[in-house]
Amino acid sequence: MWCVDRPTFAADDSFAACISRVHNRPLKRRLMAIADQVKTESDLYARRASSAALHLIAQTDGVSGLVTTDEMVKVYDQRMAGKKGPGRHIYDAIKLLPKHGICPFCDHRPVSTLDHVLPKRLFPTLAVTPDNLVGACADCNKTKLSFAPSAPEEVFLHPYFDDVEDQQWLAAKVVQGPVAAIVFRTQANASWSNDLNERVRRQFRTLGLAQLYGAQAAREISDQAHLLGVIYDSRGSDGVREELTRQAETREAVRSNSWQAVTYRTLSENDWFCDGGFRGV
Ligand SMILES: [Zn+2]
Repeated sequence: MWCVDRPTFAADDSFAACISRVHNRPLKRRLMAIADQVKTESDLYARRASSAALHLIAQTDGVSGLVTTDEMVKVYDQRMAGKKGPGRHIYDAIKLLPKHGICPFCDHRPVSTLDHVLPKRLFPTLAVTPDNLVGACADCNKTKLSFAPSAPEEVFLHPYFDDVEDQQWLAAKVVQGPVAAIVFRTQANASWSNDLNERVRRQFRTLGLAQLYGAQAAREISDQAHLLGVIYDSRGSDGVREELTRQAETREAVRSNSWQAVTYRTLSENDWFCDGGFRGV
């Protein structure tokens, strides 16, 4: 859901680096024979990704009847992701691209692996294509594992090609109770197509972001309760509202769709919370 700078490695260079130390001659010949196709399919991938149409890329079993899916998966696993693989420098560079080392799919957990946007077992030609590889956390990677879109609204937002940060899509409400809670959801944008609104909604649900953000917000409220109590005792609910607004503006200056920004903005606009709801029991 969050943008990441696109890798600068070309797909044909990545593939050439990965297969550079294959010593099995028949295998090397077969791998070299699909190099043009890797480049062509990777170019097509970039065009499709730019127009939110990755669902139009066909799944294949192997590559051109020359290289099997297992062999392409091994090229990735051993020669790119492998610690001593000749393509490891590309793997490492792509892994470093997400800002602050935070997963661009959940915007919360640290990057620990590379995610194939289109899974390597279903799209083996793209197994080492840089545009198809995004640094991600283990949880998001596992959730997406074998997901292949078959309709436009099922296409995951691609951190290199899709930008939804210019509109407010993350929203929340306060749930009053013995302990205040925040419930997150997505909100539709009139300036977006139905497909884009649906992609955001689906991805948010698939990755379980409401639960993740709800838990983080609950802890944040608990952490702030003492400070808000001190402010309330001296300046009342207006002081609490001012403090929460200041916190919201600080977070919004960085990114308005972060759970932190939305938490503080939502709390600052809730009279019950500002008038002592933060205290809990
Ligand atoms: Zn993640």
